[in-house]
Amino acid sequence: MALSGCTDGNLALFLAFKQVKWRDSFMNHFRLGSSFLQFSCLVFCFFGLCSSTSIGADVQSLLSAELPSLVALYKTLHMNPELSLQEEQTAARMAAELREAGFEVSEKIGGYGVVGVLKNGAGPVLLVRTDLDALPVREQTGASYASAKTAKDDLGREVPVMHACGHDIHMSCFVGAARVLSKLQSQWSGTLVFIAQPAEERILGARMMLRAGLFSRFPKPDKALALHCSFDIPHGSVGLMEGFAMANVDTLEILVRGVGSHGSQPQLGKDPVLLAAQLVVALQSIVSREVKPGDPAVVTVGSIHGGTKANIIPDEVRLQVTVRSYKAETRELLIAAIRRIAENLALAAGMPAEKMPEVILTQESAAALYNTPEFTREVRRSLEGALTPERVVSVEPTMGAEDFAEFGTTKEKIPLCMFRLGTQPAEALSEAKAKKVTLPSLHSPFFKPEPEPTIKTGVQAMSSVLLDLLKKP
Ligand SMILES: [Zn+2]
Ligand SMILES: [Zn+2]
Repeated sequence: MALSGCTDGNLALFLAFKQVKWRDSFMNHFRLGSSFLQFSCLVFCFFGLCSSTSIGADVQSLLSAELPSLVALYKTLHMNPELSLQEEQTAARMAAELREAGFEVSEKIGGYGVVGVLKNGAGPVLLVRTDLDALPVREQTGASYASAKTAKDDLGREVPVMHACGHDIHMSCFVGAARVLSKLQSQWSGTLVFIAQPAEERILGARMMLRAGLFSRFPKPDKALALHCSFDIPHGSVGLMEGFAMANVDTLEILVRGVGSHGSQPQLGKDPVLLAAQLVVALQSIVSREVKPGDPAVVTVGSIHGGTKANIIPDEVRLQVTVRSYKAETRELLIAAIRRIAENLALAAGMPAEKMPEVILTQESAAALYNTPEFTREVRRSLEGALTPERVVSVEPTMGAEDFAEFGTTKEKIPLCMFRLGTQPAEALSEAKAKKVTLPSLHSPFFKPEPEPTIKTGVQAMSSVLLDLLKKP
């Protein structure tokens, strides 16, 4: 296309020009598309001569210099994943990187949480968050830098470990943005608080860092930003949504009790396996029959364990349930309905009072992620300027969960914005769409972001947003 010979820096200027208020009067003056385009190209080429000093061009040239080491960092992180609450080496690497970039760094702020502060004069305080942890997944991407790591989980079992949610990409972009902002200190004013958060996959880490004094021991942020990989956006693009972006999540454990007996003499016991099976089915009626159609809600029983042998009726079965919603009242309705159904099915099964099921709400819960609309629009303008409007796509909210939301739920009510980062080749996405299949999603053993273009866009996007938000008056 017409702009193909131009640099991204020029493109940013062109787009900034397109957005200014007097655009319309120029449009009238030059009357119409083709004349306007010719005129734009003239302005564009003129500005192009001076654009080497523009912020966009500075980010671009720094990015080109830093990209090889960021991709190398990504591969190291990818090959050395650590489970939630075990992120010792990963956190140490993030601390070292932030120190190297000139941040004042504090470690072990809520588990292995890391906080880096860079003060650069008066202005807003912006928080940027990356997560640190990986998942118990056996990698099957076939990448030359695939993880072969294993680790012991909470129950002492040896499990495979993989960065299947892209947190290694997040860390690489985080380090890249820290380096860029540090090197461009003459172009902004304010304070950066870069945090590396543990235990996101267990939705524990954000609260751990807050409880450890994130907002009292360090400069209190005015706004907070994060990015998250997406499996269905092409690399080079980012995705954004205003308002609710991700769901409330609650994790429940249900202990279904019974009375054990010989498998051949069920009349002598009370079978918790049968009761648990009825419960799994009955719980599916909550969303279909009790929640208002159109109000998003999910109840999934993801784990069921009980018994040891075919001819023994055990005395307990344990279920694990994830519950998702957006509205607080829907969240309450779902949890109350689960308790009611569990108890009443047990009564129907003739379970004695002391054998009623126990429904336990675990610590693994988080509020819905709300992208503050005004702030999100500000971020969108900046992303469109840096990447072009075509590369900033609007995406639908999901029922996934993200404890980044917790940073916006304290009394300070800090505006939040998390944007999505494309990771896949555009051709692979179109091919999958044509075949009516999806590419491997986050948490899949086959999830494989394209490191170089993904990190490049992530650093460019995050750095540009920060530079715009911290622009000198
Ligand atoms: Zn995840
Ligand atoms: Zn994640």
